[in-house]
Amino acid sequence: TRKPIIAGNWKMNLNHYEANLLIQKLAASLTGEQLEAVETVVLPPFTDLRTVQTAIEGDKLAIAYGAQDISKHASGAYTGEIAGSMLAKLGCTYVAIGHSERREYHDETDELVNAKIKAAFTAGLTPIFCVGEGLSIREASGHVAHCTAQVDAGLDGLKEDQIKQIVIAYEPVWAIGTGKTATPEDAQEVCGAIRARLAEKYGSDVAEAVRIQYGGSVKAANIASIMAKPDVDGALVGGAALDAEEFASIVRFKE
Ligand code: 13P
Repeated sequence: TRKPIIAGNWKMNLNHYEANLLIQKLAASLTGEQLEAVETVVLPPFTDLRTVQTAIEGDKLAIAYGAQDISKHASGAYTGEIAGSMLAKLGCTYVAIGHSERREYHDETDELVNAKIKAAFTAGLTPIFCVGEGLSIREASGHVAHCTAQVDAGLDGLKEDQIKQIVIAYEPVWAIGTGKTATPEDAQEVCGAIRARLAEKYGSDVAEAVRIQYGGSVKAANIASIMAKPDVDGALVGGAALDAEEFASIVRFKE
């Protein structure tokens, strides 16, 4: 059985003072038992990571954290980039890779996403590997083929034990920040197809181990019905992750 994983992608929001406040509020809103039942992750901007680390380690909170992006390079003359080893040194467990906003606004290709996933593993980080189709692809019914092709490309050349660890986030671009949530059936269709594709390529052992999240306008009011679907193991939350009470309610989806 796969442990549910709820991750908050803060995107380009909150300075380090605000980040500290949000972590403190989150800690006050969730019990140790609730954090035990659902793996809870925050993905702050790079500049907040040290502050988040201090808050989480200081209070021994069972909240994991990570970055929203990583360089494909290990170190060197790459101005403005952040290496996986730097993130690992700050106690990061996860790193989001291939988010649609990176693909769209920073021209990230499947090939670059694949290289970043490899860089994450080299640094000992677990990728939260994002895939998802835009509206025109959805309207042409190409969403399953599009997402499984992204999965194939992103995982190219990885070892089976690495693939088992990975978290895949299915985020339909038309549902991100739009308030237009996919139906639970939409989420299940693609998450199920991704798992079937993993089974076909790597065997059912690997496919059953991989956790697949849904992302796109997730909130407290819709999380339970999405999580009820068999191939949805968690959520990648944007806007609603900036409100401690709302995010805590999402983590408590079972209650
Ligand atoms: P929203 O929850 O704001 O729609 O964002 C989803 C997302 O992109 C998370 O990575």
